[in-house]
Amino acid sequence: MATETTRPAEDARREGQAKQYGRIQRRLGLAGWILDAAVLVLLLATGWTMTLRDAAYSVSAERALALLVYLAMVAAIFEVLGFPLEFYSGYLVERRFGLSRMTLGAWVKDRLKALGIGAVLGAGLGELFYWALARHPGTWWLWVAGALIVFAVLLAQLAPVLLFPIFFKFRPIENEELVARLRAVAERAGARISTVLEWKLGEKTSKANAALTGWGATRRVLLADTLLEHHTPEEIETIVAHELGHHVHHDIPTSIVVESALTLVSLWVVNQALVWATPIFGFRGLADFANLPLVMLVVSGVSLVALPLVNGYSRWRERRADRFALRLTHNTAAFISSMRKLAEQNLAETQPNRVVEFLFHGHPSIAKRIAAAEQSQS
Ligand SMILES: [Zn+2]
Repeated sequence: MATETTRPAEDARREGQAKQYGRIQRRLGLAGWILDAAVLVLLLATGWTMTLRDAAYSVSAERALALLVYLAMVAAIFEVLGFPLEFYSGYLVERRFGLSRMTLGAWVKDRLKALGIGAVLGAGLGELFYWALARHPGTWWLWVAGALIVFAVLLAQLAPVLLFPIFFKFRPIENEELVARLRAVAERAGARISTVLEWKLGEKTSKANAALTGWGATRRVLLADTLLEHHTPEEIETIVAHELGHHVHHDIPTSIVVESALTLVSLWVVNQALVWATPIFGFRGLADFANLPLVMLVVSGVSLVALPLVNGYSRWRERRADRFALRLTHNTAAFISSMRKLAEQNLAETQPNRVVEFLFHGHPSIAKRIAAAEQSQS
């Protein structure tokens, strides 16, 4: 990237910062994962999970209620132990690199909202899980997977309308010319856009983002104010064209199918693990919710193994959406300059370590995306 820029020293400094930022966040992510796994192993190995279960049943003899109490206690343990890491990575590091614009109060408020949503979803999922285990001990994993698939489909549709507004403000974009340009590019892609909204991201972060969400009547384009501020209409058009690429290739429904297959596999592995472990740990049958730490360990183990596959598949879809955007807009220059601006705004490493990219990145590196665009031109 430095070869074509007029500010090579500035670019080198920024890339250095991006590498440092990436490294810190990766290490914190890994530390968080190890901490979670350690807590789960400890709960199982010490039998504390049984103690918590018995304490929950002393509050209520009703299984569904006792489960809620148990879930609340386990969640509280994770929250208390995980909070320092969460605060360091989500607040302090983001501020140190000049990315977050949130006050401590605003950050805490968002965190409480996320906890509330997590509590509702977690309680619902926990109840469903142990209901299925109790009622259908042989086929419970099919029931749970089926319910999760329905939930994923609903969430993909409803999250932009129900969940996003809990955290962000949106308002219609006033720039008529830009809206007309984006509607035109959508039409060329064979998609209709109902609304183009400005996504007030700038009060929280200097990072930029864009998304195309929903189907049919609720299909909307979300453009962060941070994106609108720094990108030209041509650049925004290539970014929306990339999002339209995801739409045209049915990337959201296909990723739901892939995730569902993964869910099914992981629940099947959980079933094997529970059948094996129940007598060893002395659980009172498959539906004994004291086995939750084991369930969580198995699920996170399977997703860890699947991570490189899921990310590889995602990078392939991203490359395809990039090619689509370039074919649709015929504007390689705008595509490349928008990529550079995004890297700068989001403090993304343009050339991450190959192994890091392979394991952790859902997008190809900026350097690769730019190289591919240049190649498609020649
Ligand atoms: Zn994309």
